Amino acid sequence: MGVVTLEQVERQIAKGFPFLRFAPGVEAAFRKDYADERVRLALIWGVVGTLIYDLVYFGDRTMMADVFGELLVARFLVFTPFVIGCIVAVRRWRNALLYDILSVAIAVLGVTLPMLAATQSASPYLFVYQNGNSAAFLFFVIALRPRFPAILAGLVLMCASHFTTTKLTGAFDAVTYSGIITFYVTLSIFLAVSAYFLEQKDRQNFLNQLRAGLLYDQLERNAERDELTGLLNRRSLARTGERLWTGAGASAVSAILLDIDHFKRFNDVHGHIEGDACIRAVAHCIRRTADEAAFVFRFGGEEILVLSACAEPLTALAMAERIRAAIEDLAIDHRGLDDGCVTVSLGVALAEPAGTTLEKLLQVADGALYEAKHRGRNTVALADGLVPGTRVA
Ligand code: GH3
Ligand code: MG
Ligand code: MG
Repeated sequence: MGVVTLEQVERQIAKGFPFLRFAPGVEAAFRKDYADERVRLALIWGVVGTLIYDLVYFGDRTMMADVFGELLVARFLVFTPFVIGCIVAVRRWRNALLYDILSVAIAVLGVTLPMLAATQSASPYLFVYQNGNSAAFLFFVIALRPRFPAILAGLVLMCASHFTTTKLTGAFDAVTYSGIITFYVTLSIFLAVSAYFLEQKDRQNFLNQLRAGLLYDQLERNAERDELTGLLNRRSLARTGERLWTGAGASAVSAILLDIDHFKRFNDVHGHIEGDACIRAVAHCIRRTADEAAFVFRFGGEEILVLSACAEPLTALAMAERIRAAIEDLAIDHRGLDDGCVTVSLGVALAEPAGTTLEKLLQVADGALYEAKHRGRNTVALADGLVPGTRVA
């Protein structure tokens, strides 16, 4: 199943679904949810339904003594094993269509078996006995609750089976027989109409829940992102940064803190709108150039932080140098400078989480950034090591 988007769900809600079918992506998600939910309940309904079905054994004994043996076989040797097989099958192959087909099969078998035996019976209680099948109709629609097309098919087949076997008993005059037909047809119509509205409600609830979940994800994502650059924001540093920090264990974490050179002057000369575009271009360039597993945060105005699990000072230094060169290569016009294009300065620091805090690591990276500025900008400086062996480059 593909990923369903908020737009798809909202479009479906706006469009409605009078034919109880969603657009393909949303329909696939609904089917999966439907299959999970029905299969979860299949065992309960299978046990309850079969137990009640088998308890009619006592009714068979009193009302249908002359075909009691056949009924015993039908209930215990045919119906019960069939239901057990169906439960095993739907749990094994969790699938909406299979569930629907087997629900119809159980319902049709359930109404047919006792009435087949009844065709061989001369019992005076046949009218009362055949009434029992109304419980099977109710069980099929209310408990098993397959999807609407399956309900329609099931009700038609159950009616066809019940009317045929009732006729074959030869026990009813025309008026009684038409009364039986009227009763089951009416019952089926009521059940079919309510099943339609129940599925409408089910589908509506499904869409609402899906929408709420997707909206929540979007909100959470937005809360973590910086609006201008799309990078992680300062707020998410507390969560994502700490997760990286605590998850790094014995391995070191590297921090690259970057600041655009002479950016006040850039704003003065080019204006703030172009200033924003410049920050955005620099941010995208960093995201492209930094290691894929690195976390990139907009740390402040035109300051960007790259955090990654990295044990080697040389690796972190190489990533910082790559970023510096990539931004220089962008050749963004900076008319406030003699050299004429935007550059950045970077401070690099590494630390093992066991020995210090993330805050301290950032302070040290900030010190290295200051050093890079001091050395004339457009350069990388490595902090004096928290990790043994690191020295200011
Ligand atoms: P240095 O080379 O020492 O970094 O000099 P600088 O001029 O870049 O100094 P500093 O880093 O302190 O300046 C930051 C400037 O960045 C100040 C502010 O006008 C600008 N700035 C901060 N956030 C934004 C922003 O979102 N958009 C724009 N256009 N400018 C910003
Ligand atoms: Mg700054
Ligand atoms: Mg600056």
